Amino acid sequence: MTTIFIATTACKGCGACLRTCPERALRPAETVDGGPPLLTLEDRCTGCGECMEICPADAFDEVIVG
Ligand code: SF4
Ligand code: SF4
Repeated sequence: MTTIFIATTACKGCGACLRTCPERALRPAETVDGGPPLLTLEDRCTGCGECMEICPADAFDEVIVG
């Protein structure tokens, strides 16, 4: 099973990953100190990688789980 980890410190909050995810598996979370929205991964992620490919900030790191 493949899942992803989002390196939130690099995220610019553009929202491209949210719009791209075919499973709608990403969602905004609370902001920290007025920074860009943090994103969390929900269970229905299939590991397709489309969010990683579209991110202009290279804010995603891939983590293999299981
Ligand atoms: S595409 Fe990248 S920079 Fe844009 S909101 Fe998603 S993680 Fe952040
Ligand atoms: S890997 Fe695919 S399913 Fe998972 S969050 Fe990214 S775009 Fe969505």
